Amino acid sequence: MAKKEVIKFKTRNRQGRRYMICRNSIEDKSYWGWQILSKYSRCNNWTEVGPNTTAVLCHVCVNKTVGPPDIKGGYKSSGRLRGWQFMKEFVDKEGNVFHKGIEQPKLKGTLKPTEPKPEKKKLTKREKQELRTQILQQMNMVRGKLKTAKFKKDVRAGNVQMRKLERQLKKL
Ligand SMILES: [Zn+2]
Repeated sequence: MAKKEVIKFKTRNRQGRRYMICRNSIEDKSYWGWQILSKYSRCNNWTEVGPNTTAVLCHVCVNKTVGPPDIKGGYKSSGRLRGWQFMKEFVDKEGNVFHKGIEQPKLKGTLKPTEPKPEKKKLTKREKQELRTQILQQMNMVRGKLKTAKFKKDVRAGNVQMRKLERQLKKL
């Protein structure tokens, strides 16, 4: 009888906790994420897992499967912060001071350059749309997986994934 090959992932025990290497550490084609992760390099992250976990995708890889394409945020090519013209006070790297975008030559060099705030990434309309498509595709994959899931834990994992995707979709 042909049996589906089960991949055994490396685990480690540290102080009573069990860790497992990311399933993206190898070419594991047996799950939904491979379609997306195949184009990235393999990953060697370890994640704490429960005693019965047989495979885990680390959060970095999960993010890759759901995250938007690399978006460079924060700085514009001018080297000034995005939206600096609208800031009450903005100091660029040369020490030029601006009040709402208007240079204040007298203040030059008197203040520390404005640090970028860890701002939320703002997506363009197109990026949002792409992200939405990605999420919907993933939801379809998870749904398909749920249909054929034989084990409770797979159903549970699928439902968790589904809720996560729904939340992400809502946030868009
Ligand atoms: Zn990983």
